[in-house]
Amino acid sequence: MASINSGVGKTVLVTGGSGYVAAEVLNSFLIRGYNVKTTVRNEASAEKIKKSHAKYLDQLSFAIVKDLQLPGGHDEAVKGVDGVIHTASPFVLQVEDNARDLLEPAVNGTLEVLKSVQKNNPAVKRVVITSSFAAIIDIFQGPRPGYTYTEKDWNPTTYDVAANPSTPGGVSYCASKSFAEKAAFDYVAEHNPNFTITALNPPMVYGPSSVLFPGFDKLNTSSADIYRLINGTSSSVPETSFFGFVDVRDLAEAHVRAYESEDAAGQRYITCSGGYTYQQICDVIRAEFPGKRDVVPEGNVGEKYPDVYVVDNGKIRRELGMEFRSLKTCVVDMVEQFIEYEKA
Ligand code: NAP
Repeated sequence: MASINSGVGKTVLVTGGSGYVAAEVLNSFLIRGYNVKTTVRNEASAEKIKKSHAKYLDQLSFAIVKDLQLPGGHDEAVKGVDGVIHTASPFVLQVEDNARDLLEPAVNGTLEVLKSVQKNNPAVKRVVITSSFAAIIDIFQGPRPGYTYTEKDWNPTTYDVAANPSTPGGVSYCASKSFAEKAAFDYVAEHNPNFTITALNPPMVYGPSSVLFPGFDKLNTSSADIYRLINGTSSSVPETSFFGFVDVRDLAEAHVRAYESEDAAGQRYITCSGGYTYQQICDVIRAEFPGKRDVVPEGNVGEKYPDVYVVDNGKIRRELGMEFRSLKTCVVDMVEQFIEYEKA
């Protein structure tokens, strides 16, 4: 794997440092000796990151960008950095207005970051974009037995469908990720900037994150998806509709590898550990945390894995040398963190 960017003392800009995924992305770069500048919407978010990443204060700096979509909003933030990791994007499934709350910030936010880099910092050679498996899957095909999703697939949802008020927020969120990723690749093709882009396409991201605990009512979408299984609110095992997961720590590692690898220029990488069902997650929690058995739904313990699509992670394993944590490790470590939060 030829390396272009690595180096202690280099600086990367991470957009949206207050997020669940971003907290681990910050860690992965900081541990390697990078300086990290991160954008936040307000001073309060910067203070929280200073607490959650207190041991790296001398490597951390902040830029306030009040909204992703502000024209020129990232102009100052991108100055003086060697590369950019764009993670900020709304990941919410219930919104008032699909276009205003999901599609526009995802697409315009991504384009604003790219424009600011091109205009202000020709030294940047790589922008890594946290896209999603949502940009790959055709959700209208359901579980699609026998099909293998690869990086060649694109979510085919049209803008009109995604923006329609009757379209569920989850469908629109998925489309927001494919529109944003496509817009980024199109931007590079049309404007020929000094940088190349690499997109990462994780499915559901679980596992413990060092984001400052926001309170159980303010967990990010994928953390809340697991916490509902252990807080007594799920009377039965939920139906699984998205058959892929990755541990947030592995996703963060993938960001560094995508950033450093010369060969990752212009590539997209499915960043997936493997398939899962909520039944498997409940089985792990009930087996490993006997104290939670009363509240975690039992369902059909040991149920056979269903005949559903496969998410092929071969490309990132081969090209970036990624290895992934198991579902059991991911879930156990995450639930342990929830239990710590409950005690606190
Ligand atoms: P998160 O915890 O909700 O973080 C989202 C981040 O984006 C926050 O920093 C948030 O800032 C920022 N943001 C959202 N809308 C913004 C706007 N209009 N202007 C400025 N900043 C804005 O979500 P996450 O799970 O870490 O997701 C991070 C990235 O990973 C997203 O691109 C998401 O699509 C992608 N992803 C996540 C998963 C998953 O399962 N978690 C799976 C696949 C892909 P505030 O803190 O100020 O709100």
